[in-house]
Order: sequence, then structure tokens, then C-alpha cells
Amino acid sequence: MKTVDHWIGGRTAEGASGAYGPVTDPATGEVTTQVALASPAEVDAAVAAAKDAFATWGTSSLATRTGILFAYRALLDAHREEIARLITAEHGKVHADALGEVARGLEIVELACGITEKLKGELSTQVSSRVDVAAIRQPLGVVAGITPFNFPAMVPLWMFPLAIACGNTFVLKPSEKDPSAAVLLAELAAEAGLPDGVLNVVHGDKAAVDRLLEHPDVAAVSFVGSTPVARYIHATASAHGKRVQALGGAKNHMLVLPDADLDAAADAAVSAAYGSAGERCMAVSAVVAVGDTGDELVARIRDRAEKIKIGPGDDPASEMGPLITAAHRDKVASYVQGAAAQGAEVVLDGTGFTVEGYENGHWIGLSLLDRVPVDADAYRDEIFGPVLCVLRAETYEEGVALINASPWGNGTAVFTRDGGAARRFQLEVQAGMVGVNVPIPVPVGYHSFGGWKDSLFGDHHIYGNDGVHFYTRGKVVTTRWPDPEDGGVDLGFPSHR
Ligand code: NAD
Repeated sequence: MKTVDHWIGGRTAEGASGAYGPVTDPATGEVTTQVALASPAEVDAAVAAAKDAFATWGTSSLATRTGILFAYRALLDAHREEIARLITAEHGKVHADALGEVARGLEIVELACGITEKLKGELSTQVSSRVDVAAIRQPLGVVAGITPFNFPAMVPLWMFPLAIACGNTFVLKPSEKDPSAAVLLAELAAEAGLPDGVLNVVHGDKAAVDRLLEHPDVAAVSFVGSTPVARYIHATASAHGKRVQALGGAKNHMLVLPDADLDAAADAAVSAAYGSAGERCMAVSAVVAVGDTGDELVARIRDRAEKIKIGPGDDPASEMGPLITAAHRDKVASYVQGAAAQGAEVVLDGTGFTVEGYENGHWIGLSLLDRVPVDADAYRDEIFGPVLCVLRAETYEEGVALINASPWGNGTAVFTRDGGAARRFQLEVQAGMVGVNVPIPVPVGYHSFGGWKDSLFGDHHIYGNDGVHFYTRGKVVTTRWPDPEDGGVDLGFPSHR
């Protein structure tokens, strides 16, 4: 069986705690790999390596950093296939989707290659007689990143390229469910010339995370994962004096207005609800059909959903793969099984589905629930599986009120041909990322990604300008060079002359 070890100080560090976690191929249900789970002492070793590296990396030239990042970009580009194959083997998503994840991660490396522009300071000359003021941004020190299973390459790439471009050093704690891609990302960074200790990877569970949250040498924590853990990370790391951005879960709504192109809306709903088997924080999991669109929209979604081909992620014919674990599959199924008793109409029931020759895989088919009451569990919880809830609203106002009553506010979308309605929606909806006829409005790398309400704890969205701000702190330098005319004691508060 393959073993995945830590990556500390620029080399493999074999797990010393004696504890290992299983990594399963979701398509076969077989445990293929064991991953070392770090003890607090091993986390300390990674933080110490990062702290040592910061002494030189933090003052390295921008030319040095960007030279390495450009080389890293080329290496990632050359290894897209290999990274995608690792993702499929441990996460289960289909190969094309895994390649898409790598491409979206590369966007942030490209942003980091242009860090020279982002770190330009500001200068005001002659703010007072012979006084200049410069505003600069400096790195924080050692930054930790804790990432979820559903994007084992992209979410780490949302974090460390920008963090290290800003001069920080990094300790990544990837999901223990699919840890291999993160190690390959670190190995390629070393090959690109990144000095030892600038990027470290420790695997583990809550024990490793807790050590990072309380470690005195960790200056900031980036987290992406479920809402309860995001809330905990934010509270705990903040209590230990750290800067924190903690992105949580979601229930993303798509509002379909009566004038929308229903075929385009149905295509978008199916793609966004069932892509990656619904295991995306930006998946559309609730469609709100306004006016009399509901019956026709549900029929068109059902027709499309019935044709989706489910199978192993490495089969090019598969459009949707399995879920991450059998336990998660069973939990997803329980929402569908309980939906009718809670008042929903079950249009498609994907439970009990299997794939011939892969009977032990974590399979579930596509489920479509119509007229779901707002107090049904299938609507109230983030299911994180291929289950789409349809709700009905009489009017635009009722639809927006329904969306705004959700505790989450990650992404949302409106489908309409009415520019005025779309404009109103942009301004009135309470979510961090809004699509107009775009079902999954994940911002490009040079904008920032983040939700509102229970989808994000902290003040900074991730990557883009917010990312640069999160990974740096400001300093303002006020300078006066002596002149024979200056001098004299003045006890007044400094003012401008
Ligand atoms: P998770 O919260 O279970 O785990 C995320 C990370 O936290 C993992 O590294 C895990 O080891 C660690 N962790 C888990 N429980 C912990 C605990 N009690 N204490 C400390 N650390 C703990 O999330 P997941 O199941 O890996 O990922 C799916 C979730 O992530 C979904 O809720 C999804 O919406 C969310 N997500 C959000 C975004 C976003 O950008 N907002 C992006 C991707 C995923």
C-alpha cells in the first residue's frame, strides 16, 4: 500500500506519530493508500522549518520570488495530467473536472507571478515641508492553510502561491481524505527552485489543526471547509491572536424568472447541481422557480438529469463520479429518503444506484426534489451531494426574500432576459458572489472569492486583492531629511506646515 508522508523543510518527512489514516479510491471502495497523521510535535517541526525559512525568504527580492513562481507555473502546466489523475484516484471526480480544478488553481499562480504590481506601495511627496509619506506592505511570517477534500489541488493553490509571493512561508494541512495532490504540488515547487522550508505540508486531523491554531509562531490561518469547522477555526485562531479567513459551506440558490430561456436555465441547473456529484461549495443546490416556470423547468431538468452517465472518474465516458466516502453517500441518501415524508415531491430518486463491476464504490444517482418546503432537512442542510431542491415563488420579491433568509450567502445566480431585474438582483441579494445567467460565478483569480453570512468568517475574501491584503500588513513611513532651516523643539501634536 502506498504511504503519503509529510513534506517538511524541502524533503519527505516520514510520519513519526505511528498514526495513519486510510485513503480510499471512491470508485472501488478500496483503501489504496495510508496517510501519516501528524502529532503536535511534527506540526511544530513544520512550523519551525517555515520560521527558519522566513528569515531569508521574507526579505528575498521580488525578482527572486517571481522567477521561481514563473518556473512553478510552467511545471504545473506540464504536470496537469498527473495532478488530475491523483485527484480522480482519491477524490473520485471525473478526469475532465479534475483538469478544470488544476486550471483554476493555475490562475492564482499566474496572479502570484504578477506580485510585483500588487506589492507596489504608495508615496505622497511633500505632505508637509520636506516630508514624504510612503505606505508599504510586508509579509506576516508563517502562515497556515487548512483545506477541504473537494478541491485537493485548487484550494491549496488559492492560498500558498500568493502567500509565498508576498514573502511569507507556509504550512499546508490538506484534507486527509485525498492528500496526494498537495504533496505533488510541494514537490513541484521545490523543483521550481523554492527554498527549503518555504512551503511545508503536514497531514493530519483535528489534533494537527489544533496545534496550528494555537502555535505561537503561526501568524495567520487560511481555512476552507464546512461551516461548523470554519466557525471553530475562526474563533480558536482569533483567540490565539492570529489573523484568520475561514470560508465555510453553502446552499447556493438559482433564481429563474418567468422570462428566462428555460433550456439555458435547465442546462445550467443540471451542470451546476450535479457536476462533481454536487461536492462543490458553489454547486447550485436550490432552484427557485418564479411564477409559472416551475413545472416546465422541472420537466426539462429531469430530462437532462436522466441522461447523465455515472461511472469511474478515469473512464472518459463518465460525466459524474462517486462520492468521497460510503458514510457520506449514506448521509446524502438519507436526505432523499426522508424528503417525501417532509412534504417534498421526489421527481428523481438516485438512492440505491450502483455501477456494474464497481459494486463497492460510493455511488449514488441524481436526485431531484420538487416543491421542497423550507423547513425540510433537504433544504435546510448543506447536503453536498447530487441532490437538487426546487422551490416555487410567486414573485421576484418572494424569491429574493427566500434566498436572503438562508443562513448562507456564498454564490447565487439569476436567470433572466430582463436587465433591470438582473440589476436589482445584484444589489438586493445577500451573497458574496453573484451570477447573471452564470450558474457557478467563481471569480477569476484577479478578483476575490468569498461568501457572506455563514459562508465566511473573517474580513477577507480569498485570493485576488483581498488575498494580497490578507497575507501582508501595512506600514506607513513618514520621512523628513534634515535641512538647516529645520529644528527647534515643538511639543504640539505633529501637524502640517
Ligand atoms: P471539513 O470542514 O470537514 O474539513 C476541512 C478541513 O478541516 C480538513 O483539512 C479537515 O481535516 C479539517 N477538520 C475537519 N474537522 C475538524 C475539526 N473538528 N477541527 C479541526 N479541523 C477539522 O470539510 P470537508 O468535508 O473536507 O469539505 C467540504 C466542505 O467544505 C463543504 O461544507 C463545502 O461547502 C466546504 N467548502 C467551502 C468552500 C468555500 O470556498 N467556501 C470551498 C470548498 C469547500
